[in-house]
Amino acid sequence: MSQIVLASGNTKKVSELREIMKNFEHEIIPQRDLSITDAIEDGLSFVENAIKKARHASLHSGLPAIADDSGIEVDALKGRPGIYSARYSGENATDQSNNEKLLLELQDIPQEKRTARYQCVIVYMKHHKDPTPLICQGHWEGSILTKPQGDGGFGYDPLFFCPEHKTSAANLTAEQKHSISHRGKALSQLFAAFKDIKF
Ligand code: IMP
Repeated sequence: MSQIVLASGNTKKVSELREIMKNFEHEIIPQRDLSITDAIEDGLSFVENAIKKARHASLHSGLPAIADDSGIEVDALKGRPGIYSARYSGENATDQSNNEKLLLELQDIPQEKRTARYQCVIVYMKHHKDPTPLICQGHWEGSILTKPQGDGGFGYDPLFFCPEHKTSAANLTAEQKHSISHRGKALSQLFAAFKDIKF
């Protein structure tokens, strides 16, 4: 079984990724288990940041790497927080402080104008100088609720209304979320692409 380092320091995201990849035929090792610190995310797109994370983890582990860069785009905020979703409410942001800031910024926006989407880019690099990384993308359309609902998921899930199930993403089971989410879609592309790769 070949080893692949998972380039993320976000423990909730790592658990979600590992859950979706549980039947994967490769051993997935979170970068934290190898004492690899977070990469500097100074790209201007999800794609650039995912490549930076994968390259950093691959360089420091000597292993192939998978990275996820994701976030939420809110139309009434012209696409913010986007690539800055994790740090939306500042350097020491928590999921709660980010959600509070989002509710405050949208306080005068009526429900029909609260449309939003999650974006996810997953990158796979064979080694840190891989000139042709695999780049997979998924998005998930929804809208922002006026108060949090549910306690599953992570990040903005309590505020993300999912039209498919008519409830917040935090009220979905892990299986329901993965079958329609931005991350589930991006990972399906990765699994399909892996069928053509020789390890
Ligand atoms: P990253 O680790 O720099 O990619 O930050 C992604 C941020 O986007 C997370 O910290 C969350 O705030 C948000 N995010 C991404 N995917 C999800 C999701 O599936 N549910 C809730 N929030 C998410």
